[in-house]
Amino acid sequence: MRMLPAFAEIAPGVKRIVAPNPSIMTGPGTNTYLVGDNDIAVIDPGPAIAEHIENIIEKSNTCIKWILATHTHPDHSPAVASLAEASNAEVLGMPAPEGRYQDKTFAPTRILGAGDVLETAEFRLEAVHTPGHASNHLCYRHASLNWLFTGDHVIDGSTVVIDPPDGDMKHYIESLQRCKDLNVAALAPGHGEVIEDPTRAIDWIIEHRLERETKVLAAVASHPGLTTQELVPQVYQDVDPRLYGWAERSLLAHVLKLEADGVVSSMDGRWHA
Ligand SMILES: [Zn+2]
Repeated sequence: MRMLPAFAEIAPGVKRIVAPNPSIMTGPGTNTYLVGDNDIAVIDPGPAIAEHIENIIEKSNTCIKWILATHTHPDHSPAVASLAEASNAEVLGMPAPEGRYQDKTFAPTRILGAGDVLETAEFRLEAVHTPGHASNHLCYRHASLNWLFTGDHVIDGSTVVIDPPDGDMKHYIESLQRCKDLNVAALAPGHGEVIEDPTRAIDWIIEHRLERETKVLAAVASHPGLTTQELVPQVYQDVDPRLYGWAERSLLAHVLKLEADGVVSSMDGRWHA
């Protein structure tokens, strides 16, 4: 993934701050977006790193009125609580579901659902429910720019982990199609650079996922009776072995989708076509 400037104005009235949490999972770090010039909405304040929270407050000239989260994974929402306390801003999003890797401190003062709108004097953001990476994942469409803030639903230059049971591959692909149908001009992802050709990027992800699904099915058919862990090296030859733990989660998401489609079945954690 390309390096990003720590701070940039990426469109009129939209600024991006990159959180100092780069890693193999987060790329250059989590993108925090500031929307508006006077009264500001912060999208995804990121991890609770004091230096990053101070930076958000400073770059907003202390005019934060709304804080939105795309979802409640630990690299996106834990800074919400301190930022809300410092700014008295309204907190918007969907509460954390059950399960691991969820930020239970996220406490929205306004729970959003599909189609809900935040309308201000300067901009209008519409919530688009996009389950798949996370069941409570929302993307936000900026009406006048016709941009979509995509969180981890679509990221730049890489694919995201689908970790069952909260992650769901079937929902993920359906949600990608929904985003494609919005015909937005650009995607502002949770990690990486602005994506200028949304249709091409989304088509690539769908194609890539279906290709992987074909590989999973072929591996199950030619090596019947393997566990997901044993299937990983057959299906993810192109992936850094340090990521095999996560690859196994995505592989599980694929076999669960194939099971729902009636193509494979499992017995005692061993898969058969
Ligand atoms: Zn993320």
